[in-house]
Amino acid sequence: MDESPTGATGHPPGRNGGDRAGRPASARLAHLITELQGYGLRVEVPIESRQGGAGPADAGMLWIDGVAATVPTGAGYAQASPYVLQAEDDGWGVYRDGERLASAQPFQRPRYYDLTTSGGIPYWQIALLHLDSLASTVLQTCAYWGNSDQCAFCGIGVTLANGRTIAKKTPEMLAEVAVAAKNLDGAVDATLTTGSTATPDKGALYVARCGQAVREAAGLPVEVQFEPPRDLAVIDQVADMGIDSVGIHVETFDPQVLARVAPAKARTGIEGYFRAWERAVAAFGEGQVSTYVILGMGEDPDLIAEGCRRAIDIGVYPFVVPLRPTVGSLMENMVAPPAEYCETIYRRVVPYLSARGLGARGVAAGCARCQACSAISLHEASLHEASDGGSHEGRTDADGRIHLPILSNR
Ligand code: SF4
Repeated sequence: MDESPTGATGHPPGRNGGDRAGRPASARLAHLITELQGYGLRVEVPIESRQGGAGPADAGMLWIDGVAATVPTGAGYAQASPYVLQAEDDGWGVYRDGERLASAQPFQRPRYYDLTTSGGIPYWQIALLHLDSLASTVLQTCAYWGNSDQCAFCGIGVTLANGRTIAKKTPEMLAEVAVAAKNLDGAVDATLTTGSTATPDKGALYVARCGQAVREAAGLPVEVQFEPPRDLAVIDQVADMGIDSVGIHVETFDPQVLARVAPAKARTGIEGYFRAWERAVAAFGEGQVSTYVILGMGEDPDLIAEGCRRAIDIGVYPFVVPLRPTVGSLMENMVAPPAEYCETIYRRVVPYLSARGLGARGVAAGCARCQACSAISLHEASLHEASDGGSHEGRTDADGRIHLPILSNR
């Protein structure tokens, strides 16, 4: 795991001071990235971005003051953002109303993208580099895609239809690409996901075989992501393959929203996810099991905060992210949730993470290690800075525990 509380970047963290509102550097950056992930960022020239793929996607990738971040750049609403990425004499900056707020470094096209397999498949169609994490959807098909079970936020079929990827990546292909991504472009881990299969294991064993091959060939820590298998013993089999972290994504703790946006996941039910997580924490350890929690789908925020705390209690890291409406998904006409709302949820979750001793820096691999799609780890950093006496935004209690203001518990 990266030493930086803001996620591994391979770049030095920014050293800018606080802003005019008196916020310290970490709080200022946390606020800025939360805003960018809500409003989006206008770009003068196209930057490398992720489009489609399983789960919530579609975002430009860049470092902001040295911190890895994905922010909407291609969506329509991003064109109306007050934030703009501007070229400077020596680099780039993020501006609002003519004021320079941060340095920026757009993600450069990785060198391994120029390579092809002996069978003629471009490496970039097998796995992409998401900033410093090698990422692939190993089965680009899902048993739920195109029928009434399709997850509304998902774009897994979009990239396949556009010819930007291949339907099935083999362990051998992924191992070959992982070695190149590590050696040529400095990939630090691998994040492998899969569409769900109609088999009882839901695809878990195949994505784990792919992860095992990547780990053995490139020596990278690996996260694999899958739905709860019918037989939870499958989770133990995944652990036995040497996988470092797992993502088992409930997506929301509001059961009504889950039923509306992810009917198949709703059949597993939130309690079904908790059963899978308990088994996974026993197999992988506390903090190595994570779930996406997507904000902005009409959920009750109290249910989200309560669900996150319950997950944290059993050692699961809730990776709270704003919705990224994916072009081609059933939610393509939605917009990302307001930054203020996301910040409120982060502030209700982060103190519990800290009190429980969980944090992004403890995750070995995957989305919760990378953290670029959320500002939650920046709020963790802000909290730690506050505990060092650098801020009036947090406080340390008599037991030495650190608290950010909890805006509302009910
Ligand atoms: S289970 Fe849902 S989110 Fe996952 S690939 Fe299938 S449709 Fe997409």
